[in-house]
Amino acid sequence: MIVCSLCGGTDVKCVVVVDPNTKEFIEFGYNAFSDGKCEYCGNVPLTDPGEVQADIDRLWAEHMDKHGEAPRYAYCCIARLNFEGAERRFIHIGESQYPEPLGKVFAACTDLQAFKALTVPDLESGREFTVISIEAFSMKLP
Ligand SMILES: [Zn+2]
Repeated sequence: MIVCSLCGGTDVKCVVVVDPNTKEFIEFGYNAFSDGKCEYCGNVPLTDPGEVQADIDRLWAEHMDKHGEAPRYAYCCIARLNFEGAERRFIHIGESQYPEPLGKVFAACTDLQAFKALTVPDLESGREFTVISIEAFSMKLP
């Protein structure tokens, strides 16, 4: 289900390509999800949490194959309350062994399950951001 990245609502719109004669759906337009619209929140990125979680699982498995241990950072795209559009940020995963460099890490979570939960919009809990895509996992910050 494709939802608003902030409120999680399904009353959303985005740009698609249709056959102008038959009005048949062909594909989502360029940047359709990042240029979405929610009936309640206005112009916001849209997201499909199920798809994002599937991407996370795939990249996590690739990382584990390659490194044999869980990644410490996720580089991902987030949507944030009161910020227009999406931004790329690092999220720390796991127990902190030492203080994280200030300003480099946007948020932290305990494990893979907790990280995947961040893909589901949840303003009610006080969390004001949603992970809308995963770029990469890493052991270190750049
Ligand atoms: Zn919304």
